[in-house]
Amino acid sequence: MLYYDDSYATECRTVVTGILDEAGRKYLVLRDNLFYPQGGGEKGDRGTLEWEGGTVRVLKALRGPDGPVLATDAEDPALLVGKTVHCSLDWAFRLHQMRLHSALHLLHSLIGDALGREPANPSLSEVEEGFAVNRYPASDVDPVDFSEIERRMNEIIAKGEPASVTPDPKNPGFRVWRAIGHEIPCGGLHVRDLSEIGPVSLVLHRKKGNVSVKVFLESESGSEH
Ligand SMILES: [Zn+2]
Repeated sequence: MLYYDDSYATECRTVVTGILDEAGRKYLVLRDNLFYPQGGGEKGDRGTLEWEGGTVRVLKALRGPDGPVLATDAEDPALLVGKTVHCSLDWAFRLHQMRLHSALHLLHSLIGDALGREPANPSLSEVEEGFAVNRYPASDVDPVDFSEIERRMNEIIAKGEPASVTPDPKNPGFRVWRAIGHEIPCGGLHVRDLSEIGPVSLVLHRKKGNVSVKVFLESESGSEH
């Protein structure tokens, strides 16, 4: 998939290899796909497909039975299987997803450092509108000082730290994210360097034995915490 080969690629030229019609909406399958399909806590990519004389909006990339499919607003009868199209990614949206999702991995890694062991996997790990959230059992993260975690996150982000994603040698077909001495198995998309996340703030919500840790990007403050 192009989004794994280069998660910073924003354009490509390819061919429509399938058109699925479901409930009045057209879903396209492309030979080479730039658009990350929703899953693993990240939202599906948006963008546009253009060809001579036509254009459609990609509303959301999703996981289909045989790989990614693109939900579109296509109505143009000229859009047929075999059509060559120019794909453009909504890069601002994608980068926002990658920054917030990577911030969750940094958060999880630093909770591990604070506990001296890996915390339980979050029961929820999602990029939402304007923030991202990891949810943990309160009993697992009670000893953690989250104001210190926030300070450490910002220190590492300010300094910069490379983050790599490579195929997982232990699990063929899976991928693993690595940074600051931690490894997290993940099939998502990530920034190459943690500095790209930019300054963050944390907000905690405790409910029913769980702690939800929300990460906000300071560059987008104005969103209510
Ligand atoms: Zn990830």
